[in-house]
Amino acid sequence: MIIIQQPKIIQLNGKSRLVADIDIDGECKTLWFETDEEYEKYLCYERSDAFLVGALPFAMRNNHDIKCIAPVTEELLYNLEQHLIPTLCQTDSSVYRTSIITEYTSELLGNHGGVGTAMSGGVDSFYTTITHLKDLNTHTHPVLTHFFISNVGNFHNKSRKKYGVQRSKKETYELAEKIAEDIGLPLIETDSNFKDIFLGGKQIVYAIAFAVMAMRKLWKVYLLPASYDYGKFSLNQHTQKGSEYYALLLLNCFSTQELRFYCDGGPLDRIERTAAIVDFPTVKKYLYVCWVKGKNCGHCGKCRRTIMALDILEKLDDYKELFPIEYYKRHLKDYFAWLERRIPEDDKFALDIYKHMRKNGKYPEIVKKLEVLIEKMSPLYELQQERIKLKTTESKLNELRIKLKLTIKRMDSQKVKINSLYNSRSWRITKPLRILK
Ligand SMILES: [Zn+2]
Repeated sequence: MIIIQQPKIIQLNGKSRLVADIDIDGECKTLWFETDEEYEKYLCYERSDAFLVGALPFAMRNNHDIKCIAPVTEELLYNLEQHLIPTLCQTDSSVYRTSIITEYTSELLGNHGGVGTAMSGGVDSFYTTITHLKDLNTHTHPVLTHFFISNVGNFHNKSRKKYGVQRSKKETYELAEKIAEDIGLPLIETDSNFKDIFLGGKQIVYAIAFAVMAMRKLWKVYLLPASYDYGKFSLNQHTQKGSEYYALLLLNCFSTQELRFYCDGGPLDRIERTAAIVDFPTVKKYLYVCWVKGKNCGHCGKCRRTIMALDILEKLDDYKELFPIEYYKRHLKDYFAWLERRIPEDDKFALDIYKHMRKNGKYPEIVKKLEVLIEKMSPLYELQQERIKLKTTESKLNELRIKLKLTIKRMDSQKVKINSLYNSRSWRITKPLRILK
C-alpha cells in the first residue's frame, strides 16, 4: 500500500516547496517539488492529484494500492479508474490493477490561465513554441505564456549520467534561460526529488504530469511536445517501451475541466517538425539536441538523426555553428552505416529519415539499400520467402513430372515394339532354333 499524506507548502532557502510524505509499505519518504517563491501561489496542496499521477506507474508495477489523504479531483479519478488503469492492465499482464482509496471532489480551484510548454532547446519543444506564439496570425490556438522546466528524471539517462547529471541539468537550464529571453517569455525553473522515489524508467510522461499538476493553479493548458507522431501510438509492451508511445492516452486521462493537456506536434513526424522550425532565428542560434555533451556532439543518436534531417532539408550550412557539419560531410558513409544499423532495430526516427530521403530523391543508392532492409523487416517477409521456396520446388516438380511422362511414353513405345516382335511370324519360326542353341 502507498499512502500519500496531505500535501503542504514549506519555504526553504528562498524557494517554495510543495511536499507530501509518501508511505510505501510502512517506509516513509518525502516527495518535494520546488520553485521560486513568486510562483508559490500556484502550488496545489488542496488535492492529491499530482502525487497520485506520479505514484501510479510505480504502484502498478509493484502491486500497490494507493490511498490519498487529500481529495482527488473527481474527473481525474474517473479517468484513471474507468479508462487508464483498466487499459494498461488489459494491454500488459505484468501490471497490477491498482485500487485508489480516496475522497473526491468536483469543486473547482481556478487557475491563472497559463499556457505552458517545456523548453529544452530540442526540435520538439521548439516546434511547440513556434506554433503557439502570440504573433501567429490565427486565433485557433492557445497562446504560450510561460516556459516550464523540470527535473523529474530528464537528466538521468546513461549518457547524461556519464557527462554528469548536475552539469547537464545546469547547462540545460542556462540554455532555456537564453531561449526564453530571446523569445520574450518567462521561464519557470523547478526542481524535485521525484526520480529518487518513483521513477522506474520509461515513465517520463507521468513524471512531467506530476510537475505540471504540482503547479496546477497556474495552468489552463499544458502542451507536452510529443516524442512520436500519433501514427506511432502503441500500448504494446508499454512497461518496456515507455510512456511516450501512449502519451496521447495518458494526457487525455490527466486532463480535467480546469487543466487541459495536449500531446503537441503529433500530426507531424520529426523531420516535418524540423522543417517547420529550421528558419526561425532563435532555433538557428540555440538548437540543442545532444544526449551526451553540453554542445551538439554530432555522434550520439539524437545528433546524428538531426544532422541527417538538416541535410535532407538542405539546411546544413545554416547550422555550421551548432553541429560538426564539415565532419558529417567528410564521413557520410559512417552516418549511412549507422542508419543501416538502426533500421533493423525498428528505430522510428531512422525510418522517418529513410522515408524523407526516398521522397526528396536524395542519396538514391542508400535508399535502395535501406529498402531491402525494410522489406526484410516486414512481418510477411518470412512468409513471402517460404512462398518463393515453395514455388521453386513446385516448378522443379513439374519439370520432373514432364520428364517422367516422356520416359513412360518412350518405355511404352519400346514395349509395343517388343510385343510386336514376339508376335511376329519370324520370331515364332525361329523359336526352336533359339531353344536348340
Ligand atoms: Zn550528441
